[in-house]
Amino acid sequence: MIRKIKGTMDIFPEEAALFQYIEGVMREEAQNFGFGEIRTPTFENTELFVRGVGDTTDVVQKEMYTFADRDENRSISLRPEGTASVVRALIENGKCSEAMPLKYYYIISCFRHEKPQAGRSREFFQFGTEMFGTDSPYADATTIALAHSVFRRLGLLPNVKLHINSIGCPACRPTYRQSLIDYYSAHKECICDTCKERLVKNPLRLIDCKNPDCAALAKEAPRTTDALCEGCSENFEKLKSALDAMGIEYVVDPAIVRGLDYYTGTVFEFIAEGIGAQSTVCGGGRYNGLVSSLGGPDLPGIGFGMGLTRVLLAMRALGLDKLAPKVPKLYIATLGEGASLVALSIVERLRKEGVYAECDIVGRSLKAQMKYANKLGAEYTLIVGDAEVEAGKAPLRNMQSGEQTEVELATFTFL
Ligand code: ATP
Ligand code: MG
Repeated sequence: MIRKIKGTMDIFPEEAALFQYIEGVMREEAQNFGFGEIRTPTFENTELFVRGVGDTTDVVQKEMYTFADRDENRSISLRPEGTASVVRALIENGKCSEAMPLKYYYIISCFRHEKPQAGRSREFFQFGTEMFGTDSPYADATTIALAHSVFRRLGLLPNVKLHINSIGCPACRPTYRQSLIDYYSAHKECICDTCKERLVKNPLRLIDCKNPDCAALAKEAPRTTDALCEGCSENFEKLKSALDAMGIEYVVDPAIVRGLDYYTGTVFEFIAEGIGAQSTVCGGGRYNGLVSSLGGPDLPGIGFGMGLTRVLLAMRALGLDKLAPKVPKLYIATLGEGASLVALSIVERLRKEGVYAECDIVGRSLKAQMKYANKLGAEYTLIVGDAEVEAGKAPLRNMQSGEQTEVELATFTFL
């Protein structure tokens, strides 16, 4: 037997219905905030992610699905996230000169070679948004409000909490970076090997390390918010005022620094209780340097990525994963060849009117058909045999009340 690739998922109708429901809420909320859908390719030139995500990140160094293309001597990669592709598309299609802000959303699969566990897979699904062309903290608040409103609609707010932080800009980052280097250098013997490397390459990432010793040290580490320049500090205050004004609760959390290289200023995560170690259901922030670093103009941006599986786990933890199944309006049980053809023509007519209707296509006995109709939870049933075909009429039975009304087989409708 051929098995699926480790870290991928097969999703059957019951669970797919939940994904559809969650995605529906995401699309509706995105549209209510004026975000339009953008679709970009599943794979891109590897170079895009190396530059766009950052060559010091785990995502690029260890997790990317990279391979040689068949033609040209080209390296391509499955997308590990959505932002870099959106920025490339923007630049390539000349969107940077349109009226600002530009607001896009997407629901995509992403690929990362990670250790599979609950809430962490190698192909995963993400709802993401990107907004370009405004550096206002009110844009940050609007982006956060969109994620927040998805969680509210899904009934997750009691369990999903917003954590915000600011990690500063190119003006204040170097001073902070140095204070981190000083702090961690003094405790070098306690940090993990990866963090020893990070100390040289990207000290900010130490704050994010999940190793227990590193995490303990991070608690006492210098805080980004104590090192912000005047501009960043003012923006962070305005963001908090905006969230207060919108009635969105948050905690300021100096441990939020985000994994990817391109973040500046505001960073945030929504963290769910009760879903285990992979508790960040949504992460995002501002990335003012990204568009220019990929060859576009100096265009500020902010966005987030929300993991669909983790959202589903959070719903499951609260018992919110039981959707009412779609039940047929009508099940037609048949006896005989002529009745089958009449039933097929009726269900086809009803479906054209937007009604969910079924009839026997298995060849079950009449008794087994009625049992199946019950299992499906059909609202009405019709039993059609030779006599009914002849008369052109049959009793339509309301399965709940037991009430029966005679209907004309050729013309009856639920409209
Ligand atoms: P984590 O710290 O959990 O690894 P991350 O910082 O790598 O997350 P992002 O790149 O910001 O995550 O992606 C945004 C969101 O996508 C995450 O908050 C999470 O909900 C989801 N996500 C990321 N990686 C995975 C994965 N391997 N499997 C399932 N969901 C994921
Ligand atoms: Mg990760």
